[in-house]
Amino acid sequence: MRDVRRLPKANLHLHLTGAMRPATLAELADRYGLPLPPPLDLGRAHGWAAFQTRYDTARAVLRTAEDIARVVAEAAADDAADGAGWVELQVDPTSYAARLGGLEQVVEAVLAGARGTPTGVVLAASWARSPDDAVEVARLAAKYARDGIVGFGISNDERMGRVADFAPACRIAAEAGLLAVPHAGFYEPAWHVRDCVTLLGAGRIGHGLTALTDQATLELLAQRRVALEVCPTSYPPLGVTRDLAGVPVRALLAAGVPVALGSDDPLLFAAGLIRQYEIARHDLTCTDAELAALARHSVEASAAPPDVRAALMAGIDAWVAGV
Ligand SMILES: [Zn+2]
Repeated sequence: MRDVRRLPKANLHLHLTGAMRPATLAELADRYGLPLPPPLDLGRAHGWAAFQTRYDTARAVLRTAEDIARVVAEAAADDAADGAGWVELQVDPTSYAARLGGLEQVVEAVLAGARGTPTGVVLAASWARSPDDAVEVARLAAKYARDGIVGFGISNDERMGRVADFAPACRIAAEAGLLAVPHAGFYEPAWHVRDCVTLLGAGRIGHGLTALTDQATLELLAQRRVALEVCPTSYPPLGVTRDLAGVPVRALLAAGVPVALGSDDPLLFAAGLIRQYEIARHDLTCTDAELAALARHSVEASAAPPDVRAALMAGIDAWVAGV
């Protein structure tokens, strides 16, 4: 059996705080005298709030530029060990700005951690904050577009915002040559995914599983080659699917939709990038050819530079050929 760790791939869905190693979280919480988040019971479904409060508790331990740079560098190393030759790390700078003294200080800290690693940074606005805040984040992303920022995301609970209100921010990002990569179709129906593609020009969608309920949305994604960033271990604990076997990776592939596996928040869901591929193989019964397709989609849908993409694609071909 081929080793999925040796399959070259890209991780396109990973959040800063969610990428923190448990040991780093414990060390920083101890240093600053802050509480640890209670573990999420992964055996049952929770509402969004249970997840968000734990995420916020973990995020509070990142108090300095050095803390943030360390987490970015450790995340890049962990994904590299899982066979990722390219990582896109998503950061909502507004959440850290007060402690670091401003939005730009957050961006500089993240870029410092990413330097020397094959990592692109996605700056994310939030569905839960105002569209004006999103415009500010998009302008910041545009400013750093030639300096390590590769995309503009919209994270948090998608039910909190109206899609069309975020079009001005996405336009600013697009004019700077950045990919728009909003979270969509997690709880909201397929129309939410469709609107993010048609109204925001989304180049990829975070999650987007509800697209599967609507043939027109599937065709839109397939025709425009808009990849879904699917993160299997996130869905059962948040009630999106009943269990891991219910994550519809093969159905999406069969519909012609590009699927890129991502790890989302390894800290909270206790699973890194390699676990997502192991789940695809063992719980979702993906063949090696399908695993290679997932890896190819992750590279195709990425913002990786041409030389990185070419090397990863050649490595995937070699993995399939068994050389
Ligand atoms: Zn996410």
